[in-house]
Amino acid sequence: MKAYKDLAPSPRTIMTPGPVEVDPRVLRAMSYPILGQFDPEFTALMNETMSMLRLLFKTENEWAFPVDGTSRSGIEAVLVGIIEPGDKVLVPIYGRFGHLLTEIAGRCGAEVVKLETEWGTVFTEEEIVSAIREHQPKLVALVHGETSTGRIQPLAGIGQACRETNALFVVDAVATIGGIEVATDQLLIDAVIGGTQKCLSVPAGMAPITYNKRAEAKLQSRKRIERGLLLADGDDDPLLRPIQSNYLDLSQLQDYWSPARLNHHTEATSMLYALREGLRLVLEEGLDERFARHREHEGALIAGLEAMGLRLYGDPSCKMTVVTCIEIPAGVDGESVRSMLLDHYGIEIASSFGPLKGKIWRIGTMGYSCSKRNVLLTLGALEAVLLRHGHSLEAGKALQAAMDVYGM
Ligand SMILES: *Cc1c(COP(=O)(O)O)cnc(C)c1O
Repeated sequence: MKAYKDLAPSPRTIMTPGPVEVDPRVLRAMSYPILGQFDPEFTALMNETMSMLRLLFKTENEWAFPVDGTSRSGIEAVLVGIIEPGDKVLVPIYGRFGHLLTEIAGRCGAEVVKLETEWGTVFTEEEIVSAIREHQPKLVALVHGETSTGRIQPLAGIGQACRETNALFVVDAVATIGGIEVATDQLLIDAVIGGTQKCLSVPAGMAPITYNKRAEAKLQSRKRIERGLLLADGDDDPLLRPIQSNYLDLSQLQDYWSPARLNHHTEATSMLYALREGLRLVLEEGLDERFARHREHEGALIAGLEAMGLRLYGDPSCKMTVVTCIEIPAGVDGESVRSMLLDHYGIEIASSFGPLKGKIWRIGTMGYSCSKRNVLLTLGALEAVLLRHGHSLEAGKALQAAMDVYGM
C-alpha cells in the first residue's frame, strides 16, 4: 500500500480576497471535543452564536443563523426560499458575483431582469431605484462588496424603494461582513448573506444569514408541504410550489434553529465552534475598531503600491476597503509574479476573473490577514519580485511610504 505522508501544510501569508488566514484561537476552537447536537451545552452555543450574529449584522431580526456550506449555500438557501418560480427578480450586476446571483435566481425559476454597468464602477442610487420602479420586481438581489473588481455598492435608498414597490431586498455581504459595516436594519435590507472565510477569518464552511419578518412571510407562505408529509386531501393546489431543496430549505433550517429544534441536518459542530470563536473575537475587538483597522492597513498598502509606481484599477470613489486591485504593468507576466511570491516568499495574492483575467492582481486585507506585518511583507516581496521580472521602479520607496502611513 502506498504510504501517505503526514499532513503538513506550508505556512502562508494569505493576501487574497478569501480564504484568508485564521486566528489561532479559532483553529484551537475547532479542535475541541464534539458535543451532541441536542446537548443543552451545544444548543446554548447555538443561541449565543445567533445573538452574536445579530450584533454583527446590526439587526433586531429574530432570525440570524449560519447555513452549513460555503457562502453560496447561504445565498442559495435565501433565494430558493423566497423566490417562487415566475417571480420577477432584479439583479444589478457590476462584477462576477452579480452573475452568480443571476444564475441562482434563474435556477429558482425567476424571471431575471439584469441591470449591468461597466466593471470597475458601481451603480448610482438613482439607477437602481428607477429600475425598481420601472420593472416592479418581487425581489432585488444585490452584491454589497464585489471581490472580483474590488468595488463597493452604496446601499442607501434602495431598501426604501423596495418597500414602496413591495419588493424584497436581498444583499450578498459575503466579502464585507466583519470588515466593513453592514447596517441591515437601518438600510431596510430584508435578507443578508455573510461569509466566514473573508473578513470574519473563520474557515470556509458556513454562511451566516439574517432575514426579517417580510422575508419570513414569503417563506412561510410557501411552506405548504409540511416536513415531507404528503399533501392533505383537498390541498392539491396546482399552484403549489414547494421550496425546491431539502438541504437548503430555509423554513426547515429556521425550525431547526428555533427553540423547537426540529431535526433537519446534523449541525457541523466544529464549524460552529469556529464561527462562535470568530464572532467572539470580532466583538472583543469592537466593530468600529475592526472597520478602522481595515481602513488603516488599506491606506498603508495603497501608499506602498503607488510609491512603487503601480496603478490601482477601477473608480477610486467606490473602492472597497478590503480588496485592492492593481493593474498588471505592461510587459510583466502577472502569473509568473504570483508564482514567485507564493513559491519563494509564501505570500499569496490573487488574479481575477472573466474580462479582468491577466489584467489585474487583487490583494485582500481581510480579517486576521489584515495586519501591519502582512502589508509590509507583501510590499517588500512584491517590489523584489517585480525587479526580478525586469520591471523598473525606485527600490525602497514602497516600504518607506507604508511606514510613513504607520507613523513608524
Ligand atoms: C466569495 C464570495 C462569494 C462566494 O463564496 P463561497 O464561500 O465561495 O461560496 C459570494 N459573493 C461574494 C461577494 C464573494 O466575495
